[in-house]
Amino acid sequence: MTTGGELILVAGGAGFIGSHLCQALLEQGKNVLCLDNLQTARRENLLELEAYSRFRFVEADITRPLPRQILGQTDRISRIYNLACAASPDLYQADPEHTILTCVMGTNRLLHLAEDSGARFLLTSTSEVYGDPHVHPQTENYRGNVSCTGPRACYDEGKRAAETMAFDFARSGRADVRVARIFNTYGPNMRMDDGRVISNFICQALAGKPLTIYGNGEQTRSFCYVSDTVDGLLRLMESGDRDLGPVNIGNPTELTIAELIDTLEAVIGSPLPTVSRPLPVDDPKKRRPDIARATDRLGWCPGTPLSSGLAATVAWFERELRSNRARNAE
Ligand code: UDP
Repeated sequence: MTTGGELILVAGGAGFIGSHLCQALLEQGKNVLCLDNLQTARRENLLELEAYSRFRFVEADITRPLPRQILGQTDRISRIYNLACAASPDLYQADPEHTILTCVMGTNRLLHLAEDSGARFLLTSTSEVYGDPHVHPQTENYRGNVSCTGPRACYDEGKRAAETMAFDFARSGRADVRVARIFNTYGPNMRMDDGRVISNFICQALAGKPLTIYGNGEQTRSFCYVSDTVDGLLRLMESGDRDLGPVNIGNPTELTIAELIDTLEAVIGSPLPTVSRPLPVDDPKKRRPDIARATDRLGWCPGTPLSSGLAATVAWFERELRSNRARNAE
């Protein structure tokens, strides 16, 4: 990494969205310091990034005191993006104590770093703060319907507490803060085994297995292609507007899980058999962002249609599966 100039810290930068964000920042000519514990990240995500001399990776867990390689750069850090947390229900529920500590203690450590460095701080929060929503589509003013005792609470309540802390730092003038509430995002660099609907369905379709529909498939989600999500995060971070409040970043095109299968069938070009599985506890029945705030204040609107985003994602999964097979055969 070059020795002078501003640094952008991306916590969770080896993960799915984080790796795309690092790539976009590097393409803008920035120096990027990536902090990740590699708990749910794919090591392969780092390969392209490490080709840049302006990229540096530090392996560390934000629930622990930040390492010297980060604290020693306090004078240079101008932006801090916090994307560090397992984000798919299967993965964040695998170690719920670590999940809530990552959200709360990890965000606290990074907010202190923002205060000490004077860096602007962006928290990636989540549509899960709305829980199983009673207001539809979800506007940022909706306060949500979250169970604080259920299996999703470690993530939902963790992110809610992280938001609380971020806005308290902002209110008291300790840090310049932005908060993005990210809705379902998909694309290359996802983990194939993260248990999410898109990765499950693509892996099942490519393996000739039936697609597992949880419940009756009538629940809805709104899926945003990762490059659109990253564009929203970059715009939010660079917005001069300190009083935005939280901002929904998601694609407002809502569809049922059954309709998602129809779209995937059209992309793959053959019918996809399905099998029913029980609906997970506290699974939200519907989810769709109201993105008026992001559109009006950031000029952001996701542009990638689901069919083309899915086609790119299926092609990436096929390439990954091929290279995994080649590696295993060696
Ligand atoms: N889902 C499904 N089959 C799967 C995985 C998920 O039907 O193999 C459903 C899940 O119950 C939920 C939706 O798809 O209603 C999205 O689930 P995901 O885990 O991707 O993310 P969530 O939006 O629940 O965080």
